[in-house]
Amino acid sequence: KEILQLVNHRNLQECQRIIEEEGVEALGQYDEKGHTPVHWAALAGATELLRYFTDCRGPVNLPSQAELAQRPIHWAAVNGHIVVVDLLLEAGVSLDVADQRGCTPLIIAAQYGHTALCYYMISKGARPQACDFEGDNALHWAAFKGHFELTCLLVYSGFNPRQADAFGQTPLHLAVLSRELLTIQFLCEQDGVQLEVEDKNGNTPLKLAKGRKYEDIIAYLEKTIAQSKSLIPKFDWSAFVFGPPGKSKGPILFFYGCLLLWGYPTYVTQIVLVSFNKLWGFHLAFLLGNSLMWYLFLKASLMDPGFLPQDSEEYYQAIRQAVYFNEWKQGKNPLNRLCHTCRLEKPLRSKHCRITNRCVAHFDHYCPYIYNDVGYRNRTYFLGFLASMCLNSIIGLYLCLDWFNVMGRSIFIGVGFLFLAVIAVITGLMTCTCLYTVAVNTTTNECLNQQKYSYLKDKRGHYHNPFDRGIRRNLLEFFHLVRPLEEGHLKRLEELIV
Ligand SMILES: [Zn+2]
Repeated sequence: KEILQLVNHRNLQECQRIIEEEGVEALGQYDEKGHTPVHWAALAGATELLRYFTDCRGPVNLPSQAELAQRPIHWAAVNGHIVVVDLLLEAGVSLDVADQRGCTPLIIAAQYGHTALCYYMISKGARPQACDFEGDNALHWAAFKGHFELTCLLVYSGFNPRQADAFGQTPLHLAVLSRELLTIQFLCEQDGVQLEVEDKNGNTPLKLAKGRKYEDIIAYLEKTIAQSKSLIPKFDWSAFVFGPPGKSKGPILFFYGCLLLWGYPTYVTQIVLVSFNKLWGFHLAFLLGNSLMWYLFLKASLMDPGFLPQDSEEYYQAIRQAVYFNEWKQGKNPLNRLCHTCRLEKPLRSKHCRITNRCVAHFDHYCPYIYNDVGYRNRTYFLGFLASMCLNSIIGLYLCLDWFNVMGRSIFIGVGFLFLAVIAVITGLMTCTCLYTVAVNTTTNECLNQQKYSYLKDKRGHYHNPFDRGIRRNLLEFFHLVRPLEEGHLKRLEELIV
C-alpha cells in the first residue's frame, strides 16, 4: 500500500528505499482493485520510476487481477506513453500480449487515438493482424472512434481497409457510426473498398447512416454510390468548376468573372471613349498596372508557396529517437513538431494547411482569391498583387468620376464605381496589414494563433517575437535579400534576451 502511494506521488527515492528493504517482490503486490504499482506507474507515464523498476528487474508484466487482466503495457497504451512502452519492451515484455478481450497494446493505442504510439509500435514490429475477440483490429478501432489521421496512417502502413470483423463490419461501417466524414471519404477512396457491402445484420454503411439520420453522411454516400454505378466515366463537374470541398473556386470565379466579363468590357466600351485623349497618362498607368496585377496574380496563384518536402528522414528519425528524449517529464513532447500527414518535422513558422493538405514554410494564410496558400516563396508576389490591385482600383475610381463629370449619371457605371470602391478599401486595408506584419516580421497565422506557439513567448509567458530584427532587416528578409534567422541562432538569441 505504501509503495502504491509513493508511485502516485512519483517519489523515486522512497520507492528505492522500499525495494531495497523488501526486495523487488514489493512491485508484485496487488492493491484492493487488483492492480500492481507498475500498472499505476505505466498509466501515469512515470518514466523515471519505470526505468528504475526495469533496471532492478522487477515484475513489470503481471496481469491485473481485475476484469480484462490487462498488463502495465496496456495501461501505458491507454495514455499513449511511448517511453514507458519502450522501457517495457526493453525489459522483455511482448508487444503483442493481449488482454482478456484480445486487445493488444496496439489496438488499445488505436482506441484512444495515439497516432505516434501506434506508429512507434508498428515500427517496432507489432503484429498488424492482431484482432480482439470480436475480430476488430487497430484500423477498425481507429475508424470506429473517428481518428482520421490514425486511420490514414494505418492504411498507409498496410492495414486492409476491406477487412470485416466478426459482425461482418468493415472499417467503413464503423467510420459511419463515428460520423467522421473525412475518415469516411478517405476509406471510400481506397482501392477495392465496397460501398454497399452488408454486415451480418444485412446493414450497408448507407443503411447505418440512415438508421442514425446522419444527413451529411447519407448525402455523401448516396452521391459516391451513384458515381460508382454510373457508366459514364467519372467526372465531377462541380469539383472541376468549384474545386473540391474546402478548396472552393467559387470566390475566385466570381471575382475574376466580374472583372473579365464586365469590368474590362465596360472600361473599353465606355471609359476609354470618353477620356483616353484627355487622361492618357492615367489610362497608361491603368493598363500597365493591370498587366502587372495579372502577372503577380498568376505567379502567386500558380507557384509553389513553399510546400515542405514530404516523407522526410527527420520524421522517421524523430519517431525513433523520441523514446530517448529526456524532457518528456517536463511536459515537452518532441513529437509535437511532427506532421503525420506529410510525415515531416515541421520547422518553426511552418504550418499544415488543411485546405491544400500540405505543410507550408512560413505559412501566412490560405487565400481563396489566389486559390493557393501564401507562404515563404510566393509572399512577395502576393503583397505586390494586393498593392497593385489597390492602385488599379483607385485609378479606376478616378476615371469613373471623370466619366460622371462628362456624361452625367449612369446606374451601370455607378455599380462599377461601388464595386471598385469596395475593392479599393479592402485591398488597401489588406496591403497595410500585410506591410505591418512584414515590418514587425510576423505572419497572419502567428498573429491569429499567438497562444499556440511557445516560440512566441518569453519565459514569463508574455508575447515576444524572436524573429523581429528591426524594420529594415525585416523588410530585407521578407524580400529574400537577407537570410532568415536559423533555429540554432534563435535559441541563442532568446537566451541572450531573457
Ligand atoms: Zn503537413
